Amino acid sequence: MSKNNVIDMIVEIPKGSSNKYEVDGITGRIKLDRVLYGANFYPGEYGMVENTLDWDGDPLDVISLCTYPTLPGVQVSVRILGSIKMIDAGEIDTKLFGVFNDDPRFAEYMSLESVPQHLKDEIENFFLQYKALQKKSVVINGWGSLEEAIEELHECTERFEAYKDRLAIDGGRESILAEWKAQGLGQA
Ligand SMILES: [Mg+2]
Repeated sequence: MSKNNVIDMIVEIPKGSSNKYEVDGITGRIKLDRVLYGANFYPGEYGMVENTLDWDGDPLDVISLCTYPTLPGVQVSVRILGSIKMIDAGEIDTKLFGVFNDDPRFAEYMSLESVPQHLKDEIENFFLQYKALQKKSVVINGWGSLEEAIEELHECTERFEAYKDRLAIDGGRESILAEWKAQGLGQA
């Protein structure tokens, strides 16, 4: 596999955490969005790809298998293997899925098929459950191939380029989301 499936993820939430940290798009600070309502723990390192924009108004999400948790704000090379096609409260909210490229324990993980089924089940179950106590529904329409994941990355990069000036303005994100909703864009 060529190197074009290795991307830089900025970690927001270390594996095992119940604190949902996110990078603030305006200040760049890592802030606590919320503590997960239930006793749920992120089953992998969770973060985003800088300079991308997904339909939920946030950068494209990434979840990656890792051995040892890192820290919020750390940049990690992730070898993308596929995606998780998630719908969060009616909004398309796809997540890229991969493994730490610089952890030799994952050297043989070269495609979705090489990932033990239980690990995939655990991640799927986490996302199906993590908002249950907030009474919010999450739907997962299966896993996407590496090709679909790369296509998603390209789309989110182009979308960021188209909207980056507005995103940099206070309230810009909200006005973009309202516009998309009115046009039915990004809705499942
Ligand atoms: Mg998202």
